[in-house]
Amino acid sequence: MVKTNIAVLGAQWGDEGKGKIVDMLTPHFSTVARFQGGHNAGHTVYVDGRKFVLHLIPSGILHAGVTCMIGNGVVIDPDALFKEVDELARAGVSVDGRLLVSEKAHIILPYHRELDVLSEARRGERKIGTTSRGIGPAYEDKIGRRGIRVCDVLGDREALATAVRENVSARNRAIKDSTLDWRPVIDRLVSQGERMKSWVGDVSLALHQTIVAGKSVLFEGAQATLLDIDHGTYPFVTSSNASIGGVCTGLGVAPKAIGGVLGVAKAYTTRVGEGPLPTELNGELADRLRETGQEYGASTGRPRRCGWYDAVVVRYSARLNGLDAMALTKLDVLDGLPEVKVCTGYRTASGTVTEFPADLRVLIGAEPVYETLPGWSAPTKGVTRMDDLPAEARRYISRLEEVSGVSCGLISTGSDRNETIIAPGSAVERWTKN
Ligand code: GDP
Repeated sequence: MVKTNIAVLGAQWGDEGKGKIVDMLTPHFSTVARFQGGHNAGHTVYVDGRKFVLHLIPSGILHAGVTCMIGNGVVIDPDALFKEVDELARAGVSVDGRLLVSEKAHIILPYHRELDVLSEARRGERKIGTTSRGIGPAYEDKIGRRGIRVCDVLGDREALATAVRENVSARNRAIKDSTLDWRPVIDRLVSQGERMKSWVGDVSLALHQTIVAGKSVLFEGAQATLLDIDHGTYPFVTSSNASIGGVCTGLGVAPKAIGGVLGVAKAYTTRVGEGPLPTELNGELADRLRETGQEYGASTGRPRRCGWYDAVVVRYSARLNGLDAMALTKLDVLDGLPEVKVCTGYRTASGTVTEFPADLRVLIGAEPVYETLPGWSAPTKGVTRMDDLPAEARRYISRLEEVSGVSCGLISTGSDRNETIIAPGSAVERWTKN
């Protein structure tokens, strides 16, 4: 049987529950590869009631025998990586021989965090709401061609000294009256490199060899399409390409290697940090979604903003990423609501729009156009077969499919791996047959 490599991406503003979806699909793949972002992502996975929060290492690591790769498109804080490796070791999970870190990935330097905080403070009212972990400044250095890569740290010390000197002087220029010495930075990097060395390699080549050998790869996205640096709600976005193009650039794989794309979307919408959220709710309903859905950031604990399902957003994601199917998560969070709403367009100053606008000013004062559907009183929580869902929930799902232009291959009805419906005849069913 021909094995399909699939990408799993966030279709909204992140926190859609990608961690659980990736985790449950992983047994069908030999390798899980992460292609962008940094330790600002936070995937929460429950296995047999035990909670794991992974920021950098793909959650596939929790499955024995699965190889996990971190691509060149990811920015790595070595201390964050070591912390995760140590925590996994304490839980009895060893990464040795199963983790491959790209030699081309860029390093988050100690002062990138400081620059992150500073740049948010300088933006004042226009702050982005970053996690302050130095991710944005590390990507800025990458694009500014003064970044330090993993292979630089493992290579010639003189060349590293030149690169670090340049990087530190850029940092000193950014911070008034700052005279940080570059020498301790090198010593620290060298010792971090020592520890990382055995995990480092050519991720692009390793993926090619994996695929040629007939094994399948799952490309794991972090953050989400509407946070993509190019296609998201700029400037309230992350610093990398979280949509499908990031797979090719962030791992060094050809587009032909991607055999399927699964978009993960919540049955409602959330967003953490600043930026537009057209279907945002306030008051009791928002609190109810937040509490029932436990909508607090896995990385920072920040409360997430909550709203109704926005089909304009998911339709946009479906087109951009070429989604073959959607994994609809957290349906159970809507259990017991008398009615549920779906946004199909925005009423703006210049008329109703049904395509997601580039200019965020269009969204200011825009009013969502809603369709209201009946809610359901019987619980969907833990349901594993489509036929066992309440009729109103099935109707809600099929309306979401129609207005979003993508069918649901998987429906998640709880945080546990088993609390899942795989739609009969769907792409997800095909991918999980092998
Ligand atoms: P990710 O970054 O996309 O993986 O999302 P997070 O891990 O930040 O948030 C997802 C949270 O929702 C985690 O705590 C999951 O355990 C939980 N979760 C995932 N799927 C479901 C579901 O279908 N129902 C409920 N109630 N929780 C879910």
